[in-house]
Order: sequence, then C-alpha cells, then structure tokens
Amino acid sequence: MSGGKQINCAYCDKDGLSKNVIGLNKKLIHQQVERMMCMTCMAAYFETTEEELKEMIEGFKQQGCALFG
Ligand SMILES: [Zn+2]
Repeated sequence: MSGGKQINCAYCDKDGLSKNVIGLNKKLIHQQVERMMCMTCMAAYFETTEEELKEMIEGFKQQGCALFG
C-alpha cells in the first residue's frame, strides 16, 4: 500500500476504507472524501445490507466505472 492518504469512516472512525468503498460513496452520495462512510454505515444510511452494497460495487465494476477496481 502506498500513495494517497488513508481515508476513515466519518461516522464510526473505521479506518482504511478500500477503493471500492470510496468509489461507492462517490457514486451514491458525494465526492467529499472528508465525509466518507464505511460499508456498515452506508448500509444503515440506505437501509440496505452490506451484501447488497457489495453487489452494487460488482455491478459498477462490470460497467467499467473508473471509481472501482
Ligand atoms: Zn462507519
């Protein structure tokens, strides 16, 4: 791991959010990295499950979205 600062969840302080989690924040919420949510907090926010969010990430990946990898 190198380059770029580590991003933490703004709500529960979980650290080291992955690129895919950050991408999902950008896609679904906003581009402000200061207020990123982890999977757990996002699931609560959208009243869904972490599993569903992971499926969404897979879907965006398949579309070739550059935010995910
Ligand atoms: Zn969190």
